[in-house]
Amino acid sequence: MEALWSAALPLLQRQLGERNFRVWIEPIRCTSGEEGEVRLEVPSRFFLDWINRHYLSLIHESVSEVAGRPCTIRTVVCSSRTPQPAEAESDAGVTRAAARADRRSARVPKIGRLVPHYSFATFVVGPSNEVAYNAAQAVSAEPGRKFNPVFLHGGVGLGKTHLANATAHEMLRRSPRLRIACLSAEVFMNDLIGSMRQNQMNGFRERFRRVDALILDDVQFLAGKERTQEEFFHTFNALHGSGKQIVLTSDKPPAVIAGLEPRLRSRFEGGLIADIHPPTREMRLAILHAKVRTHSVELPPAVAEFIVQRSGPSVRELEGALTRVMAVAASRHVELSLALAEESLRPFPGVRNFVSVERIQEAVSSYFRVPVAELLSHERTRRVALPRQIAMYLSRMIGEASYPSIAEKFGGRDHATVMYAVRTIEEKRAKDPSVDQALAVLDGQLRANP
Ligand code: ADP
Ligand code: MG
Repeated sequence: MEALWSAALPLLQRQLGERNFRVWIEPIRCTSGEEGEVRLEVPSRFFLDWINRHYLSLIHESVSEVAGRPCTIRTVVCSSRTPQPAEAESDAGVTRAAARADRRSARVPKIGRLVPHYSFATFVVGPSNEVAYNAAQAVSAEPGRKFNPVFLHGGVGLGKTHLANATAHEMLRRSPRLRIACLSAEVFMNDLIGSMRQNQMNGFRERFRRVDALILDDVQFLAGKERTQEEFFHTFNALHGSGKQIVLTSDKPPAVIAGLEPRLRSRFEGGLIADIHPPTREMRLAILHAKVRTHSVELPPAVAEFIVQRSGPSVRELEGALTRVMAVAASRHVELSLALAEESLRPFPGVRNFVSVERIQEAVSSYFRVPVAELLSHERTRRVALPRQIAMYLSRMIGEASYPSIAEKFGGRDHATVMYAVRTIEEKRAKDPSVDQALAVLDGQLRANP
């Protein structure tokens, strides 16, 4: 039942939005009720009332959708204890054991909250994220000494929040007395607004300027929020000036965050910028195996392969797909099998079909206005070469095609050419915002319309 609930969480999150989800869904604890009913424990009578009136039918639908059959939901007030937020994490069913182990040693930041199991130990490292990972490790070993600020960027669900939390955990593990602020830019802004309203700006400034490290997640959120940017600018300068470590994450590089003041952008660009790409197939397999390990479940290679192919570049999506398959297996008391995985993943929105190399060539061709025939040709001018390399890169990263098969589909080239193209685009992506922008747009198009 808990696995079923965990699997329903991403659906609920999508439909309720982040804020409502945090407030009303995260605190709920799921236990098995009588005769297969799903028993949801909530912290108070008021909460119970609210949930029953506003969210019960949505919860019912989501859980039933995941289970593949109508489920009975029972909501009760839990009198004994308030559930820990960590246990309501979306993948709690999968990583509960790890979370529990981590919590024992978890220390608390001065400002903000950490997800207990988002540690370096649970982070799978590979070519797509090692630069970011190494930077995060380096600054947690020697805050303020190596790179400052560190700016990590990458698409949704690729591990930015995980790395931000891991950095804070590691800093605290090494120096438990360190004062750390680890929070999202949105929480920073809400805190600021609250303080302004209550005339407590001095307190606000004091609080943020006294920390030893500031880890701010999702700074793209600051775009267009002038007052918050202004305040953050001063906080940034005060901390940076006294050698305190600053770590920022964003879904795009500083240069393409529209509505970001130039002075902040140049601060963001003043340290180390590292981007995180979608994980390679090997990394995704490793992530799946790491997730099932805590669960003593057998994950047959064909099932792992299927989940990897079906779940697009985001790790969150990948985990969601695994959780769904495991939940269906658990609710039917059967082992994981390919047939079961196919059935569990088919009806769900957000699960992407395999994108073919041909489809990628088409999309790249229309984005750059270069005919497909030229992409496949041996023409070497930049006008054709860059789009061709981008198409090869996407074929590898989104299309999941092998190097030789990509080479074959690009006019029968050598597979080393494709490997070279992938490396080149990784490098260009970090340096050239227009390349990054193109990749983001194409990635979005291909996923919306595989
Ligand atoms: P982002 O903040 O970039 O949107 P998150 O950090 O929230 O993404 O990651 C989404 C989910 O994927 C989390 O559950 C996280 O633990 C997991 N995840 C992402 N990258 C990795 C990785 N390299 N190894 C293990 N888990 C990962
Ligand atoms: Mg995040």
